Amino acid sequence: MNGQSIQKLKKRFGNKIQENVPFSSLTTVEIGGPARVFIEAKSTKELKEILTFVKTEEMPFFIMGGGSNLLVSDEGLEKLVIKVANSNIQVHNNLVTVQAGTTLQELVDFTIEHGFGNLNRMTGIPGTVGGAIYGNAGSYGQMIGEHIQEILAFDPEAEEEVLVSQDECQFTYRSSGFKKNGLIILEAIFKLPNEDPETLAKEADEALSLRTAKYKPGTKCPGSFFKNLFTNEIPEKALKMLPPRNDTYGKTPSYIFIEELGGKGDQIGSIKIADFHANLFLNLGEGTASDFWSLASKWHKKVLDRFGVKLEPEVQLVNLPPLGEV
Ligand SMILES: Cc1cc2nc3c(=O)[nH]c(=O)nc-3n(C[C@H](O)[C@H](O)[C@H](O)COP(=O)(O)OP(=O)(O)OC[C@H]3O[C@@H](n4cnc5c(N)ncnc54)[C@H](O)[C@@H]3O)c2cc1C
Repeated sequence: MNGQSIQKLKKRFGNKIQENVPFSSLTTVEIGGPARVFIEAKSTKELKEILTFVKTEEMPFFIMGGGSNLLVSDEGLEKLVIKVANSNIQVHNNLVTVQAGTTLQELVDFTIEHGFGNLNRMTGIPGTVGGAIYGNAGSYGQMIGEHIQEILAFDPEAEEEVLVSQDECQFTYRSSGFKKNGLIILEAIFKLPNEDPETLAKEADEALSLRTAKYKPGTKCPGSFFKNLFTNEIPEKALKMLPPRNDTYGKTPSYIFIEELGGKGDQIGSIKIADFHANLFLNLGEGTASDFWSLASKWHKKVLDRFGVKLEPEVQLVNLPPLGEV
């Protein structure tokens, strides 16, 4: 971004514009170089104004939510980084409408308290509702996309709002159509069954205790690094090489492949694969994106060479090459 563009942004949005904000301060893994220019959009109106402005001025931009699923390069990003932070939850006609910048935890807590089912076991997933929809986040048998009736999004190219139906969202395991269509999620409408709040809270507590065994407090990571695999899509030969186990929800966890090859505890620089979980890549303190990428690429290649299985990152790599490519 050139100095003239930055001056224009400052003129339009004043002291809401910040320069050179390190991604290490914006992401849960605490890694990443500077966001050249940064703004937090605290309302839907403000978000649309920013998006319209960048379109008119032809400025490159990047959308983020809570930064809990991002690995950004050490060079950072020469773009306007827009953090979606509009936040509100409402109920009309038994439908829950939530703005994209609301934290997923606020939504989960709200639905439990008001007796709406199907999101309670996602308690503890960090980040925003927008980020969760983008990657179809989920846990313990629940996925956010399954319960969406409709999304209100903004098309930055056409500079207009669009309604996206459940079908058009194209939700699949840890993916959605938003990874391709370039739309910015403004708010989501959920259709959820009415259930007993006490039962929902009890289930949420159970899910949370399983979660905290994996993600210890203070852990610096972007969540699980690789996506799990559908067991019926794994070559027979590879399955035979794995130890016997009971798959949950028809999936084979990706950690098994890395664990089988002795990956637990492997380390490059300050990035380490957890001793207790082979799909958890931790920043021990001063970790770099470059070391993170190298460690992930190393195990991506080892699994491919040994099992013929191509692991796919669940984490969004930003300004970094695909794993294995230099
Ligand atoms: C400790 C820990 C535990 C986790 N556990 C889980 C888990 O159990 N299950 C799971 O699925 N994930 C898990 N994650 C990963 C992560 O929390 C989720 O993917 C989360 O939903 C990402 O939301 P975010 O707001 O942080 O998105 P970000 O990381 O900020 O962004 C992720 C992507 O979403 C896009 N995006 C964000 N907001 C919008 C928007 N409004 N419109 C369009 N695109 C948008 C961004 O451009 C980016 O590409 C975990 C992460 C951590 C750190």
